[in-house]
Order: sequence, then structure tokens, then C-alpha cells
Amino acid sequence: MSTIVSGSSDRPGNPDRHGTPDTSSARPAGPDARQSPLPLAPTADASADDDRRSEGLTIGVDVGGTKVAAGVVDGAGAVLAAVRRPTPGHSASEVADTIAAVVAELSVDYEVRAVGIGAAGWIDADRSRVLFAPNLAWRDEPLRDEVSGRVGLPVVVENDANAMAWAEYRFGAGRGRRDLVCLTVGTGIGSGIVLGGELYRGAFGIGAETGHMRVVPDGHLCGCGNRGCWEQYASGRALVRVARQIAATDPAAAAAMLEACGGDAERLTGPDVTEAARKGDPAAIRCLTEIGHWLGEGMANLTAVLDPDRFVIGGGVSDAGELLLGPARERFAEVVPGRDHRPPAEVVIAELGSQAGLVGAADLARI
Ligand SMILES: [Zn+2]
Repeated sequence: MSTIVSGSSDRPGNPDRHGTPDTSSARPAGPDARQSPLPLAPTADASADDDRRSEGLTIGVDVGGTKVAAGVVDGAGAVLAAVRRPTPGHSASEVADTIAAVVAELSVDYEVRAVGIGAAGWIDADRSRVLFAPNLAWRDEPLRDEVSGRVGLPVVVENDANAMAWAEYRFGAGRGRRDLVCLTVGTGIGSGIVLGGELYRGAFGIGAETGHMRVVPDGHLCGCGNRGCWEQYASGRALVRVARQIAATDPAAAAAMLEACGGDAERLTGPDVTEAARKGDPAAIRCLTEIGHWLGEGMANLTAVLDPDRFVIGGGVSDAGELLLGPARERFAEVVPGRDHRPPAEVVIAELGSQAGLVGAADLARI
């Protein structure tokens, strides 16, 4: 091993909760593509962390539509080394080859005992096959065996949002809670649920797809084929849609947002809206308020079923912080069932950022 970080940590290094684009994917493969271990903060329960650290190292791989991010993770959730590659777009075997390549690269300097893969798709109950991935070439793909055969290590496959939720539960904003819902509010809504300290997968492995709860009968068309799904109302895509509607009907009100995109509403992005809102632009704040209200509506529905003690909100739209969470809490408090007679669930921002998926996958490979 070339570099082992000393000391203890309760979370991975480089918490990048703002989703800052990582340019390391553009680096050439090889040792130079590896990121250095990052400084770690000390914790009070160092002995417990030391116990987990001694459980051995695993590799977590986060496979998304555009990038494959992988890292060596210790039992305390610290990332010791990480690499990124673009996701090959055309065939399932190319993706498996890329996963095997990053595992081989990371295994040069670290002795690892298992690999966890967080994949943007529906995973079967055995954590072995990807049943369907809307943005990747997988259709009933035996990913676990494809990768295990290439790398010679035990492999588990998990839904990427489940892996993120698990990471926040173990090492991030959900630490110490036993019942939590983690929502990744990006282009759509990714979600993972931990109940009684266990990741909830459902009977067939494809539970916790809360973004596809239908909240508006015959509402906006969703990529899943239904209409009115929650993620069509409480996501980055929804934020941009609302902002463009304002630009189309009242350009003067949308002036600050339009300025951010060169006057072309078709080029308006979610970060443009968030930036304008941070500067106090009333129209942009209104957009985030609407998205936050829809977020609170869905959280109230989830609370009726699950009664979590905490919602952890991550993803790019969560960069707006209280501009999103304030309205979400407000609507949640207005509509949650039995609102005057129950303890309120907390709503907090995720802590682990863009590394949550690989950290969670690595930890799930350990247990
Ligand atoms: Zn849907």
C-alpha cells in the first residue's frame, strides 16, 4: 500500500455536497488519475472507528449515465483513493470492462476484499442483476457476475440512490438515526430508505422509487411512462420549467435569471436560478419556493407511510439550501397527517456530496 491515512474519521474525505463538477474524469488513466487521500477530521469515538477501519478495505463504484467513479474505502467510510472515467455508452460489456479497469487500477496500491457497485438502475433482490437502467445499456444484465469474473473478487450491486442513502446513514447526515429517507434532488429525484437500521429494498429489490409516486393525476409526463410523478414537480427539471414559464409570460420579472443565461430562456439552468435566488431575485426565489413546496408535499405522503425521523436532502438542487428546505418544511408542516399531534421529522442537507454513492456501495459490499 502506498498511502494509508492515519487518524480517524467519521466521514469520507472531500465532502462535496454542492456537486461541484469534478474535472478529474478528464485526466488520463493511470497513477496520475488517482486522487490523493484527503485530510480527515478527528472524532470522539475513535475506538469505534478504528474497529470499523480494521474490517478491511473495499472498493465502491458509482456508475452513472456519464461517469464511473470509484474509490478505495475503509471501514470508517474514509476514501483513501479515487478515480473517474467516462461511462462508455454503447454496450453492457464495455461498462463491465470499465468497472474492472478502475478496480484493477485501485487494487495496485491497496489490498481490497470486495467490490460494491452503485448503479443508476433497478437492481434485483439478489443484488446481482440490473433489471433496467433508463440511461445505460443494461437490460436484465448479470452485472455482478460479469464484474466478479473479471476482477476475481466478491461483488454486490445496489441501486445508486440506495447506496447514497446508506452512506448518509452510516457516515453522514443520517448518522445515529434508524429511520430516514434520503432524497437526491437532481434532474429527477433519487431516493433511498433506511428503516430500523436496514436498507429497505422491497420484495423485488426495486422499492424506494419515491420520485415516481404520482402526486398529480394526469400531470406532466414522466420518463417512466406515467403522468404526474413527484419528480416532475420537485426536481431540477421542474425548477427550470417553472423559471422558463415565468420568462415566457413575464420577461421583466425574469430579468435576473435571463441575464444569467445570455437572455435565452432555453439555455437557463437550475444553477442559474439558484444563483439568482441567492442574490435576492424575487422570481428565482419564487421558483425555488414552488419546488420546495412540492418537496414538502411528497415528504408528507412518505411520512404517512414510513414515519421517518429525518429526511436527508442531497443532489444539485439542494445547493439552494434554506431557499429550498425552508418552503419544504413549511408545506410539510401544513399537510403532514396528524400534524398537531406528532413529533416533526427533521429535514436536513446531505453531507457526503458526490462521493456518497461510492462510499455507500463500498460499505454495502462489506456487510
Ligand atoms: Zn415517473
